[in-house]
Amino acid sequence: MRTVIKIGGSLLRSAQHFLDAAKFISTFDKPVVVVSAVKGVTDMLIELYKTRHESIYEAIREIHVEIAKRLGVSGIDPLLRELYKALDMPEGPDVLDYFMSFGERLSATIMHGLLRRIGLESKLFVAPIITDDNFGSAKPLEDKSLAEEIGENEGVSVVTGFIGRTRDGRFTTVGRGGSDYTATFLAKLLGYRRVILVTDAPGVLTANPQEVPEAKILPMMSVEEAVEAARLGAKNFHPRTFEPVTNGMYVEVRNYWSRGTVIGNFYAPPPYKVVLRCGEGSCVVGLDAEEIVKLGGEYVSRFAAHVPMPPKWAHDLFVKPYFEKLVWIN
Ligand code: ASP
Ligand code: MG
Repeated sequence: MRTVIKIGGSLLRSAQHFLDAAKFISTFDKPVVVVSAVKGVTDMLIELYKTRHESIYEAIREIHVEIAKRLGVSGIDPLLRELYKALDMPEGPDVLDYFMSFGERLSATIMHGLLRRIGLESKLFVAPIITDDNFGSAKPLEDKSLAEEIGENEGVSVVTGFIGRTRDGRFTTVGRGGSDYTATFLAKLLGYRRVILVTDAPGVLTANPQEVPEAKILPMMSVEEAVEAARLGAKNFHPRTFEPVTNGMYVEVRNYWSRGTVIGNFYAPPPYKVVLRCGEGSCVVGLDAEEIVKLGGEYVSRFAAHVPMPPKWAHDLFVKPYFEKLVWIN
């Protein structure tokens, strides 16, 4: 099955991390691999844009040179020179996106080089998605020519996450955390059924574990629940991450070893899946959110209700009892 695999930035912090990712990628048949920036680099690029401090440029340079050197990969020097030149550019939302584009361009270049080095056929696609010119939160446009080009590639297709391009060729970004969205958007455009969002968490949790230590990994979620949870701010998902997931597609949120959370067009238990901090109180996301509204909760949407209590209480009340009743095979 043709698969889109997205590798998160938290899994791209060192040469060893890139090797782990490459090993995982090598077990798939001609996958599309969407790559995030190395952890922390997008923030550094924003700082660099604001301050133009050469010390930040040097730190970004060092991170990537070190990883590339250890992996024996070349190809990032032209990008680093281009970034250095950008230090003289004026301010503007388009220039900020241009600065941010280097994070994904650098990491994808390294990933592509590494895959080739270990003997895989790989082709690099830099910002292949055409977007509108709403810099900072650009909207991807459905351009089929791209799908054809990637679809015809006879090897791994490495694609930069998060960034796109306007029709006249300027870099855009789709909003922070947007690589997941790039991955689901591409899968839909290409007609691929499976998307794997590889992250450092084992799956989607029922609550923020810092607030609710007994939060559990959800085995399954419907697309509607995932759309709602992302929209309300779950796990730093880009709010539109699950919007492209249509019938017949499914998304796995997982690490390399876990089974993770499978998100698709199915309606599995438990009835209440995720609790989030929400204004003064909590939002409970789940298929049966309307039942909570009947009990006095406030309507947020078809799949979410607001309750005036901290997440820990809401989790104890709505998620825990049903989760404990689920029967697990093995
Ligand atoms: N690198 C981007 C960010 O930090 C996109 C992503 O990682 O998904 O927001
Ligand atoms: Mg992310």
